[in-house]
Amino acid sequence: MSSPLRVGVAGLGNVGAALVAQIVRERAMLAEKCGRPIEVVAVCARSKGKDRGVDMKKLRWTDDPVALAQSNDIDVFVELMGGSGDPAKAAVEAALNSGKAVVTANKALLAKHGVKLAALAEKKGVALNFEASAGAAIPIVKTLREELAGNPVERIYGILNGTCNYILTRMEHERLSFEACLKDAQRLGYAEADPSFDIEGHDTAQKLSILASLAFGTKVDESAIYVEGISSITPADLSAADELGYRIKLLGVAVKTANGIEQRVHPTMLRKDSAIAQVMGVTNAVTIDAGGFNPLTLIGPGAGGAATASAVLSDVADIARGTRVAPFGRPAAKLTDVKKAPMQRHEGGYYIRLLARDKPGTAATIAQRLADQEISLESIVQRHPKDATKEDTQSGAVPVILITYATTEDAVRKALAAVGRDRVISGRPQMIRIEKN
Ligand code: NAP
Repeated sequence: MSSPLRVGVAGLGNVGAALVAQIVRERAMLAEKCGRPIEVVAVCARSKGKDRGVDMKKLRWTDDPVALAQSNDIDVFVELMGGSGDPAKAAVEAALNSGKAVVTANKALLAKHGVKLAALAEKKGVALNFEASAGAAIPIVKTLREELAGNPVERIYGILNGTCNYILTRMEHERLSFEACLKDAQRLGYAEADPSFDIEGHDTAQKLSILASLAFGTKVDESAIYVEGISSITPADLSAADELGYRIKLLGVAVKTANGIEQRVHPTMLRKDSAIAQVMGVTNAVTIDAGGFNPLTLIGPGAGGAATASAVLSDVADIARGTRVAPFGRPAAKLTDVKKAPMQRHEGGYYIRLLARDKPGTAATIAQRLADQEISLESIVQRHPKDATKEDTQSGAVPVILITYATTEDAVRKALAAVGRDRVISGRPQMIRIEKN
């Protein structure tokens, strides 16, 4: 059998500790499948004394990730510290510069520096693998980069943040408020003490920026993504969606349009019978429309130490086997600038929930403002005040739910602004985009 692949792991938190444990546990199977053993020889974290649930006494220890990245006793540097800046960036650059393959799960680093790091890896002729950076255990990076090498992708969309999906699932099933579900998510460890990165959609956006690059051959560009979070979603929206045959999910969507590549993260209405609408709790899912056949949907754990470590290990195993592909599926120099499709020109159906003032002429005024923008309605549901939720009755208004046929974002925004000026509604209208699926 060939010589072992020697691995250095920087970061021994949830993912790093699980990775070291899995490499030890599956030693024999890995050697068989890869044709050579995989051995962790050195590890790095901040605090040497911390119990990490794995025996690391025989492994070389350092608290300097850059020194580990450059050391001669490793072939692969695995970066599991996180963060878009140093030490993760400096250590990954140091490893690549010294001719070592790199595996990382760090979406923040890739969203910011992915193209430069890919170019450096290609220049040095080494692998830069990042399967775990989006969708954790879901093999979405390799699917886009390798499996669909010959299929032009039209659209990719997915549930990429387990915290948001957990909150929306609880809200839907138990008719609880967003705030109550967020508190529970924090108590159960699904949400951070500062949850804004997740619930405002930025975590999804970082992952989407990586997937969009793999799908469309564009440079990773988080700034090209329109981002809206889930904090405005109410139980009333979820019950209305349910009655109309939809579910609401926070989706990251990247799609080819006549105006360029549209990249957006926002709460989205999906037909209940679609595969992705049935994904509940912290589970993630990604659907790819690659033309020529029905959409491909991958579903699985999008977070967690063991789940993420398994994707990291698959990247390490590829290196052990000697497989190397361009990090983003084509040479970094060929990745094109993103031609950002303006959100105002987004076309699709819309769900609109208005709290209409209960007085004569309100319905006619709303209908007129929509007609002014050439918006046609697929359905209108005006609820009896007795059916209104507590939050609606408090405002003394009647909820009206509208589903539009395909129109533009610009038209919807203009119509809603006009309805607001007419003073026939109370509060801010809710508007949720419908994704065809
Ligand atoms: P974590 O639990 O916070 O662990 C981070 C580790 O990095 C810790 O062991 C920490 O050392 C070490 N570290 C931080 N700064 C360091 C420094 N300056 N020098 C040396 N070591 C340093 O993070 P995680 O959840 O394992 O995530 C690791 C990476 O995987 C991140 O990029 C994350 O985005 C990605 N990821 C995580 C998940 C998940 O479910 N957790 C899913 C997908 C992707 P100490 O332990 O000594 O403090």
